[in-house]
Amino acid sequence: MDDQGCPRCKTTKYRNPSLKLMVNVCGHTLCESCVELLFVRGSGTCQECNTPLRKSNFRVQLFEDPTIDKEVEIRKKILKIYNKREEEFPSLSEYNDYLEEIEEIVLNLTNNVDLDNTKRKVEQYQKLNKDTIQKNKIKMTREQEELEEALEMERQATEQRKILLQKEEHLQQRMKRKNKQELLDQLETSHLPASILLAQHKGKSAQIEVQIEKSKPAVTFSTGIKMGQHISSVPVPRLEEVLYRYQPVHIETYGPAVPEIEVLSRMG
Ligand SMILES: [Zn+2]
Ligand SMILES: [Zn+2]
Repeated sequence: MDDQGCPRCKTTKYRNPSLKLMVNVCGHTLCESCVELLFVRGSGTCQECNTPLRKSNFRVQLFEDPTIDKEVEIRKKILKIYNKREEEFPSLSEYNDYLEEIEEIVLNLTNNVDLDNTKRKVEQYQKLNKDTIQKNKIKMTREQEELEEALEMERQATEQRKILLQKEEHLQQRMKRKNKQELLDQLETSHLPASILLAQHKGKSAQIEVQIEKSKPAVTFSTGIKMGQHISSVPVPRLEEVLYRYQPVHIETYGPAVPEIEVLSRMG
């Protein structure tokens, strides 16, 4: 939209692509420089609706429609108060009613419908459920912490694996280099023919490869799949053909007749 712009100074995004539009709790837009100008003291009232606003509450407008920005902010605030979870309700339908109530509150506050009543309702709810709200808040913080802890542990384990693999690779390279050097030395000093020395070297290299394969740590990811293990996501194809049926083989022989099984066993 190229006519998106500041209602005060009339600058548009079309004329000034770096124009930064800000939106406050009432959902009315101002550009960054107008905010600086009008809210020099940190607070003031909205030019459009006279709502008292704080400068610190201005956010960069993320949506073309500033009411969506407003709704997002309101929803965030309301969900901090209405933070009950499904397991706290005796039935799913009661939980659904609760969610519907939240939706109605958010809609009312966003669109300035029944504002006083809705605000009073939220305040009342907040007073009545003070303890539960606090408890759920703590619970959520703890869960968040646990999640972060688990992620941190996984990160550390990955780091450790990386170091281990690096060490391993270093060692392997040294082994290979040593083996090569040995061959060169032998080629220089040994009286054995080069072909034999090369064959010996080949054998040794193969041994080293086997050793390397064996010493590789079995790396397991959190999915439980070992590194290097081939996992096919293709389902095993079902055999749709007719099952194999044995048919005795007829061989045309032009020499003497093949002895029968019984004859053979009789002859020992
Ligand atoms: Zn402006
Ligand atoms: Zn306003």
